[in-house]
Amino acid sequence: MQKNKVIVVGGGMVGAAMAVKLAKQGCVVRVIEQRPINAEQILQSDTIDIRVSAINRFSENLLDDLGAMTHLKQSRLAPYQQLEAFERVGDNLLFDCKDINTTHLGHLIENKLIQASLWQQFKQHDIEVLDIKSAICVIEQTAQDITLIYGEERYSADLVIAADGGQSQLRAKANIGVTGWQYQQHCMGVLIKLDAAQQIKTWQQFKPSGPVAFLPMQAPYANLIWYDDAAKLQRLNKLPTDQLKQQIIENFAPLAGDFEIVNQAVFPLARQHANQYSSGRLVLVGDAAHTINPLAGQGVNLGFQDVAALGDILATVDDIGAAIHLKHYEQSRRKANLLMMSMMDACYFGFSNQLTPLQWARNRFLKLANNAGPVKNWVLKYAISGEMK
Ligand SMILES: Cc1cc2nc3c(=O)[nH]c(=O)nc-3n(C[C@H](O)[C@H](O)[C@H](O)COP(=O)(O)OP(=O)(O)OC[C@H]3O[C@@H](n4cnc5c(N)ncnc54)[C@H](O)[C@@H]3O)c2cc1C
Repeated sequence: MQKNKVIVVGGGMVGAAMAVKLAKQGCVVRVIEQRPINAEQILQSDTIDIRVSAINRFSENLLDDLGAMTHLKQSRLAPYQQLEAFERVGDNLLFDCKDINTTHLGHLIENKLIQASLWQQFKQHDIEVLDIKSAICVIEQTAQDITLIYGEERYSADLVIAADGGQSQLRAKANIGVTGWQYQQHCMGVLIKLDAAQQIKTWQQFKPSGPVAFLPMQAPYANLIWYDDAAKLQRLNKLPTDQLKQQIIENFAPLAGDFEIVNQAVFPLARQHANQYSSGRLVLVGDAAHTINPLAGQGVNLGFQDVAALGDILATVDDIGAAIHLKHYEQSRRKANLLMMSMMDACYFGFSNQLTPLQWARNRFLKLANNAGPVKNWVLKYAISGEMK
């Protein structure tokens, strides 16, 4: 039997994982990436990426199955064991891996290391990378196949997977619309070098202007995330380093010990959901299908769940581009993605205000939730596994 041919457009974390998964299942895979990377060089480099992701246990297992954990374990992997959320110090909601008998809740890993560790698998699985900078001109579909046309070049496959991120050109070319909005808040990531030993707790403090969060990376580094009004963050971003440091000290009260600012960047935040996940033989995964408020660090975790679901559905079928299978994938993922988006919005809108009754209610909620035993453990298991068991 002829092998199924797949083109993955976008070799970010999600696209690279999708490519390796399908290649391991016997497909012939090509990745089209406008900014190809040198994986070897990245994995050996000491330069720390400001973009970092909290990877849950589900994603860790997927990365392990795809062979990427071997490289990640040899690089800057930072497991965290506790996760704390609070508004007023004292009314803290603390999740601890010990409560559910596990060694850690997840890992904080630089995005470029995750991407590079997956690209390291490409050679072994004969995945070809095409470096194409231009936007796609035309998508041609027949009952049997799909072709991407870039100028004079034509690339045909049984299935095209759009993993080209939140601004997906492929999604637009396929006339798939999105619903969503830009949040008023933006967020600033600040990479710091800490004068402290390895931290095991990640925490987030909710404030009316937006939360602040601490993400421990491999010592001595950590990432601070500051959500606030876009204009305010732009102003902070332009401050001289000593003044920014002073602002951080004033706004990240629980931050202990001295630190040095290494780097910082501001990111806009958008919620976006594709109106459909497929069109003919083209299917969306990761941010191309959904972008979510990064409040609880779930974006790429959802993307990896898309990869697992789509891969598993296609593992046993003859024609991997058939609409019926792509619809089956959408059914298995849309509700779960929507639920997580809605939960993030409930947090965003519920905590971003100073209404006294709401302030009272949410502090009471955090306090009660902290003592909620089985319910708390269920929420924790959902957050780290993505499964509602
Ligand atoms: C501030 C912030 C913090 C976050 N923290 C977390 C976290 O802690 N945990 C978590 O799970 N998620 C987090 N996220 C979300 C996470 O970063 C995204 O969900 C994730 O990067 C999406 O990966 P992706 O591969 O789908 O898309 P992208 O990372 O956008 O990758 C898309 C790839 O496609 C390529 N590309 C684009 N257009 C084309 C084209 N036309 N042709 C060829 N190639 C193309 C790009 O070069 C890129 O390599 C955070 C997001 C933000 C903004």
